Amino acid sequence: KSVLDNALWRRSMHLSTEQQAWQRSSEGQKMLEFRRSLPAYKEKDAILNSISKNKVVIISGETGCGKTTQVPQFILESEINSLRGATCSIICTQPRRISAMSVSERIATERGEKLGENVGYKVRLEGKKGRNTHMLFCTSGILLRRLLVDGDLKGVTHVIMDEVHERGIDEDFLLTFMKELLPCRPELKLVLMSATINAEIFSSYFDGAPIIQIPGVTHPVHTYFLENILESTGYRLTVDNQIDDYGQAWKLNKQTPNIRKSQIASAIEEALRSADYSEYSQQTQDSLLCWNPDCINFNLIEYLLCNLCDNEKPGGILVFMTGWDDIISLKEKLQAHSVLGDPNRVLLLTCHGSMSSSEQRLIFEKVDSGVRKIVLATNIAETSITIDDLVFVIDCGKAKEASYDALNNTPCLLPSWISKVSAKQRRGRSGRVQPGECFHLYPRCVYDAFADYQLPKILRAPLQALCLQMKSLKLGSISGFLSRALQSPESLAVQNAIEYLKLIGALDENENLTILGGYLAMLPMEPKHGKMLVMGAILSCLDPLLTIVAGLSVRDPFLAPLEIKELAEAAKAQFSHGFSDHLALVRAYNGWKIAEQKRNGYKYCWKNFLSPQTMKAIDSLRREFKSVLKSICLVDNKASSYNTYSYDENLVRAVICSGLYPGVCSVVHRDNSLSLKTMEDGKVFLHSKSVNARDSKIPYPWLVFDKKVKVNSVYLQDSTAVSDSMLLLFGGSISIGDAEGHMKMLGGYLEFFMEPAAAIIYQTIKRELDELLQS
Ligand code: ADP
Ligand code: MG
Repeated sequence: KSVLDNALWRRSMHLSTEQQAWQRSSEGQKMLEFRRSLPAYKEKDAILNSISKNKVVIISGETGCGKTTQVPQFILESEINSLRGATCSIICTQPRRISAMSVSERIATERGEKLGENVGYKVRLEGKKGRNTHMLFCTSGILLRRLLVDGDLKGVTHVIMDEVHERGIDEDFLLTFMKELLPCRPELKLVLMSATINAEIFSSYFDGAPIIQIPGVTHPVHTYFLENILESTGYRLTVDNQIDDYGQAWKLNKQTPNIRKSQIASAIEEALRSADYSEYSQQTQDSLLCWNPDCINFNLIEYLLCNLCDNEKPGGILVFMTGWDDIISLKEKLQAHSVLGDPNRVLLLTCHGSMSSSEQRLIFEKVDSGVRKIVLATNIAETSITIDDLVFVIDCGKAKEASYDALNNTPCLLPSWISKVSAKQRRGRSGRVQPGECFHLYPRCVYDAFADYQLPKILRAPLQALCLQMKSLKLGSISGFLSRALQSPESLAVQNAIEYLKLIGALDENENLTILGGYLAMLPMEPKHGKMLVMGAILSCLDPLLTIVAGLSVRDPFLAPLEIKELAEAAKAQFSHGFSDHLALVRAYNGWKIAEQKRNGYKYCWKNFLSPQTMKAIDSLRREFKSVLKSICLVDNKASSYNTYSYDENLVRAVICSGLYPGVCSVVHRDNSLSLKTMEDGKVFLHSKSVNARDSKIPYPWLVFDKKVKVNSVYLQDSTAVSDSMLLLFGGSISIGDAEGHMKMLGGYLEFFMEPAAAIIYQTIKRELDELLQS
């Protein structure tokens, strides 16, 4: 069999005449030459040798040295040339879908092949692979999902995990899983690739696995901090040095707000103000000089970009921003500028996780001389994507990172300061091809206070989805498995996750997976969103829930441009009868769908301040979710069986409640104003975009919400109003026999909030329910 396999494999690898011709062509030769010029190429033999002798190998090297694009090819090519007679199947994981897609496309190009032949990719919603795909790029999440059905990774010969230094939750989990799988799969090899950060920790986790260090060429980078930036403009500036105790006081990455922070801000501001900027107008002076650690100074970025465009030194500029929203805002601002917005002088590009493939390609294209390339990027450009012709880097010093406060059980999504290692990586982007310059938009003393490394995600994120996955992989006790991880999360965080899963009915009292939990583990989304789909399918009102869950998984499609905020809010209000942001989204989507069928989708979006890209993304996610539900037999092909009651908004409301519970807050009206409270946070507020923020008379006693975000106070993002009985019957795990438990729960809520009116309602419902149960 193996001889036959080998013969078939060799045939599948056999180059087509077209491909052979391409490889011989000058273009193909040039590509080969380029590949050979990369630092990774010089280590090819050492890498292959080490992989053949060891089960686990760690490869570390500067970004751009050729790890991602070359190492998988080295392995594939050596397998083709070897006479070992084994079929080779390489899986290479990437932390982000965008890199899985762009890297596989790049490798196919380097090989003169079409994507989907030897090289393929698979990410959520998309994929290109064929029968002969021997090298598959996927996100770590996709590999995790494969483990659910194929826990031994049958047929896979090499797992390459790229960018392990990022320490995402899925990656950390995979590392532990692989460590336990390797002894059972003698022929499986694991290759870990990392930027030059902390490779030793992986080596010691895998019992001293060898580290191959690819030497990189780096050019010197001239570094400016905020004070130097201002100085470099020709003005003298001194920053008060009496603020050095600030490093200890301000615990970075933990988002502990600290009084010292404002003191620092004002000290620096004052120092900056003492500089002589008289040449600029008062307004420019104010906006340039004011340094607020909580905001990105767009004016300063514009000013710097303008200066750099006049610089004699050619080369592109990379600007690190925190996320998609401020990239878009900055782009709009720059486009309105006379120089920066002139397409003959500046090619303005964006680089973030949700860009299209055509946008991706543009980033790598060379520009004509006389044109300055400016790329506005998230931290995706820190290590995953390498753009060659960059010489200048502007670094805002922050990244939007999901973090998690285990004490309050609250996820926070705030731009937070990056680590020293990230700042170094960002700086390094400018010195790849020639000496570069880097502008950090924060003072040196703030940099000194950065944490050395960022905490791995497993230590700072909610663990519900992970725990559920572990249960369905039958990995035994959750805390037992996690204690064998590279770094174990706090036991409080694990306990919170287990309690949560019990509360929503995914785990039973003994931490065993329930039937609902089994379904939730198979769905590629957060358990609470999965629960909405499961309940929607069972209660035959799936359609609106598909829209809601898809909407919650992408971003908010309702746009709110600052200048015309009122108009945008009025447009959203049209969709908002029923006190629910989720139902407003359903109405907006349904309207869009009808318009889209008449080819009017774009106009509809324009009129209603909706993002057409987001609507399309929601549309395709809906389709994906539906096919997953089909694959686990929760829906069949007859729409009538799962959509009979989709029109019933109250039923949908109840299902939303079933998913979002225990995200509940009480609504109390007092003197014409609204007072909202949750058990954990006390007083909370509604996000200004919420439809419920517009009306102070919510005729329901409770709001359920998807996300709360802690800024200074706690804000609820999307919310839906629900009644007592909805909360009573749909909150938590549903089983009629447990009604008494539910009564206790609701009673607990009411007692906590101490509302006499609510207590009366509670008594009434209790009576009704008692009667119901008696009968
Ligand atoms: P690493 O993984 O070590 O950071 P890569 O293998 O991603 O490095 O990239 C190696 C080199 O290949 C880069 O320096 C860049 O010159 C080139 N490269 C990578 N991706 C692309 C692409 N999509 N288009 C053009 N060149 C690319
Ligand atoms: Mg890489």
